[in-house]
Amino acid sequence: METQHKQVDPIILSVALPTPLRKTFDYLLPEATIYASLAEARELLTGARVQVSFARQTLIGFIVNVSHTSHFDIKKIKNISQLIDQQPLIPADLLKLCQRAANYYCHPLGEALSTATPALLRQGEPSILQPINSWKIVADTDIKSTLKRAPKQLDLYLRLQERQHWSPELLYSESITPTQLRSLIGKKLVIQQQKLPKPQRSNPLLAQQHHQLTDEQSVAVESINHSDYCAYLLYGITGSGKTEVYLQAIEETLSKHQQVLILVPEIGLTPQTIQRFQARFNRTVVAVHSNLNDKERCEAWLMAAQGIADIVIGTRSAIFTPARNLGLIIVDEEHDQSFKQQDGFRYNARDLAVMRAQQLNIPLILGSATPSMESFNNAQQQRYKLLPLTQRAGSALTPSMEVLDVCRQPLQDGLSPPLITAIQREIEQGNQVLVFLNRRGFAPSLLCHDCGWIAQCPRCDSRLTVHQSPQHLHCHHCDYQRSHIHQCPKCNSREVKCLGQGTERCEQALTTLFPKTDIIRVDRDSTRRKNSMKNILDNINKGDPCILVGTQMLAKGHHFADVTLVVILDADSSLFTADFRAPERFGQLLLQVSGRAGRAQKPGRVIIQSHLSNHPYLQNLLQGNYSNFLAMLEPERKLTQLPPYGNLALIRSESKRPENAAGLLNQLREHLNQSCAHNPQVNLLGPLPAPLEKRNDRYRFQLQINTDNRQLRHHIAALSIQFLDGSVLARRVRWSIDIDPQDMN
Ligand code: ADP
Ligand code: ZN
Ligand code: ZN
Repeated sequence: METQHKQVDPIILSVALPTPLRKTFDYLLPEATIYASLAEARELLTGARVQVSFARQTLIGFIVNVSHTSHFDIKKIKNISQLIDQQPLIPADLLKLCQRAANYYCHPLGEALSTATPALLRQGEPSILQPINSWKIVADTDIKSTLKRAPKQLDLYLRLQERQHWSPELLYSESITPTQLRSLIGKKLVIQQQKLPKPQRSNPLLAQQHHQLTDEQSVAVESINHSDYCAYLLYGITGSGKTEVYLQAIEETLSKHQQVLILVPEIGLTPQTIQRFQARFNRTVVAVHSNLNDKERCEAWLMAAQGIADIVIGTRSAIFTPARNLGLIIVDEEHDQSFKQQDGFRYNARDLAVMRAQQLNIPLILGSATPSMESFNNAQQQRYKLLPLTQRAGSALTPSMEVLDVCRQPLQDGLSPPLITAIQREIEQGNQVLVFLNRRGFAPSLLCHDCGWIAQCPRCDSRLTVHQSPQHLHCHHCDYQRSHIHQCPKCNSREVKCLGQGTERCEQALTTLFPKTDIIRVDRDSTRRKNSMKNILDNINKGDPCILVGTQMLAKGHHFADVTLVVILDADSSLFTADFRAPERFGQLLLQVSGRAGRAQKPGRVIIQSHLSNHPYLQNLLQGNYSNFLAMLEPERKLTQLPPYGNLALIRSESKRPENAAGLLNQLREHLNQSCAHNPQVNLLGPLPAPLEKRNDRYRFQLQINTDNRQLRHHIAALSIQFLDGSVLARRVRWSIDIDPQDMN
């Protein structure tokens, strides 16, 4: 009797499915008998993919729990349609990270797991590594005469000759595309091979000698190399050699045959960045960047999972890369906003990095010249260990900073006469100049000079930006576009004028002023096409005198050896945004841009144009001491109990009918008032209209939750979700919850 009972013990699988429902779903595994025990079934099944039918659809989900029992009537539980993996695809530690993340950000686990997996694997493709291309260089002692008539191919061959074998990552880091190799392959000077990727461990670890560390760098590296879990805040001014600290910590980790995960901001993952990590080590680097197709993304993920990739470098979502033996996590430019996902699963990869390092008991480096107030506070509270680098490495000096008061000065397209003279002088001396203006397009508004009419987006509460190449009007909030307007629709006047400056206008003005100099514009529009950013950077790094005009895409992480003058055209506009983080961001951006000046032998100078030259923030920043700047911002944050002194959650609603969007949050507020009105540790604000109240024809409202501690916030967030899930009105309103919001819009 007993044995018979054992035989029919069903195996119930809890499956996380990619649906917005915040729960898992139970299915039966038909072939329960093949597992010797429940423990064995758990080990082999947890993290594996299954195909199931769900509400008349076929979905692929992940098994997150295996047991003999269910809360549901077992007779009614459906069988799975197919078990896709014979072994877990998501390793246990990654599954745990996703579970903790889903819980922390109040997001459905199934969607969190989808974020963690490459598209092909989500669609059920087998998790088998395919052979990948590599290239072998054939020696030719008389190459100059072989390629006599093909100078371009000769150049390429000579560059390739430096190594015998080239991987896709190596090519990418040298800005060479596989297509460029075709002619050399045709001439049998390069052989294309297909090989299964395998660990690269035979060569000596170092491909390139490391620098002799400065004292401060040594202290940092020593400290990191002797630790279990610890979050290090590597706080080093720009050019202080943070990357060298990363490299030597990586060296130690690789020598123990462990893997390294490096996260960089969205715009920071350039071939140049990859090259710095690739060049140092004879180990496999995989880079997860936006130029990868689905297949390559999947390969990179699997190579990391199988321990073949030693170094994984990627943007935000790379925090979910599996690794067999992870030994170190690095988050470069930890203050960068792009680590926070702003829609769907609103996680912060930097904060998940802390979670992951803790879970694996390994060190974590958060590096920045301008740390976020949150991380800085964590260091002050001894939760993170502060590692300061106060001097520039090598021979470079810190740049000098000055404010140029432009009140009453004649401005030519936003440029003042002393500024033009300063630019001219640098160009004459053969240097490069960087002009920073954080606004793309030609002009931010189009205005009728006769009646004051302004071109508005018909779908948003915002103005249309004027673009010149190609000429059109564009809403940067909802992407609405239309042809240019030459005649005022209100008074028929032809006196329609562009108001204010964007990068296109600045580029045009500089071209007129400096007709013989190369003007290179870098913004989202000029870099839209594949490889255009790469070409621009290659062009800059040639070192010829030129003027770079660009948005924040130019501000971060780049190393321009020949830029001696950095000009910040319009510092004032960023001082007046409503977001409580605006001053912090302003300081970070200003110091980051300034850090592009004088990074090599030539000294650097920074000029900030402003109508508010006495503004206390500006005056403070001029001293170039970021900690002092943060100290200045602290009292207000403390007073208002905003992060890092409070715990925020933002509940957003939007609808074509404003009364629905506001109404839903009003109901929620009433509900929450009942359970926590008399709790002084909870502060509810709103519902209020969002700073951009109407976007894309929808009215937007928000309710802000601010609490003393995280547990309490979690509790209130959970209460809110429970209420919203059950609300009838919520079915007609789009709503979302954002834990630790970065963008308050
Ligand atoms: P950061 O990442 O802090 O902005 P980098 O790591 O880019 O700084 O370093 C700036 C420059 O200084 C680089 O050219 C780097 O090669 C060089 N450098 C770093 N550390 C040293 C060192 N210990 N000795 C000499 N040069 C160094
Ligand atoms: Zn008019
Ligand atoms: Zn719009």
